[in-house]
Amino acid sequence: MGLGLICQNSDVIKLRALAVAATLLAGLAHQASASGFLTSAVEGTRVLTCQRIGTKLGSVRIEDCLTSGARPTGGLSVEGTPLLMREYPPVAGRRPIGRVLLVGGIHGDEYSAVSIVFKWMEILGEYHSGIFHWRVVPLLNPDGLLRSRAQRVNAHGVDLNRNFPSPDWHAATEDYWVRQTSRNPRRYPGTGPLSEPESLWLAAEIARFRPDVVVSVHAPHSVVDYDGPPEPPQRLGSLSLRMLGTYPGSLGRWAGVHMGLPVVTIELPSAGSMPAATEQRTIWVDLVSWLKERLTEQPRPEWTFDAITAGGSAGAGAGSR
Ligand SMILES: [Zn+2]
Repeated sequence: MGLGLICQNSDVIKLRALAVAATLLAGLAHQASASGFLTSAVEGTRVLTCQRIGTKLGSVRIEDCLTSGARPTGGLSVEGTPLLMREYPPVAGRRPIGRVLLVGGIHGDEYSAVSIVFKWMEILGEYHSGIFHWRVVPLLNPDGLLRSRAQRVNAHGVDLNRNFPSPDWHAATEDYWVRQTSRNPRRYPGTGPLSEPESLWLAAEIARFRPDVVVSVHAPHSVVDYDGPPEPPQRLGSLSLRMLGTYPGSLGRWAGVHMGLPVVTIELPSAGSMPAATEQRTIWVDLVSWLKERLTEQPRPEWTFDAITAGGSAGAGAGSR
């Protein structure tokens, strides 16, 4: 690697750090704004986005999306689709034992990983007791899902789960993509860490919310995977723990391994069809009971937000996500 590349990387790193800061500010400004015009514009984009999601997914109706309470955050996809989120805030008189960020649809062709999050939002909408402070993002990659033929990658052709700023991003991501995947277009990591608005928004959201645990839903490997400080859940519903390892640029390697923020990855058995209703509920109940145990009986994870790093390496993996 020549000096030119190192300098270029360091410029890119500075630019991305600025972009993270700008995205953070945009999110805060969006939350703070209360003008009537903006409110109705936000409502319009919420309805439109729900219409598109409800039309695309067999298991989520337009009304389900609308009543989920997921709202535009100010974050936008490459094609300008709002990134929706619902907050289930602390309940008066009860101090939450932890903050949990739940994310579906990082990969646009994993339909079930979006639908099940909407189902869990129905449960939360009815039973949110204030034990946790939740933020739920049902669909991080709307452009991938909402095109006529759904795709894993975003509209730039980037696998968002290879675009997070693990310390080895510059050293390992492209090499891994070329050598290990033979330039598989479904796993293209992008031109730089957080080059994509969707991954950049999620990194900024992690910095804003400072979750104690991140839960990320995928399909179709039918396991529970985990990255971060122990102890992982051994089983959620019929899904058993199998540590698949991480990849350069994956959420698990950046947040879980590098920052020490626990990341639970739920891999549903099928991308195209949902688990049975009882299994959907059992996975949820098991997740909540693991979160209770994890956040009350073990020391709260202490992690340090580090959006942009360069050099070094963090672990190795051999899974297939
Ligand atoms: Zn996936």
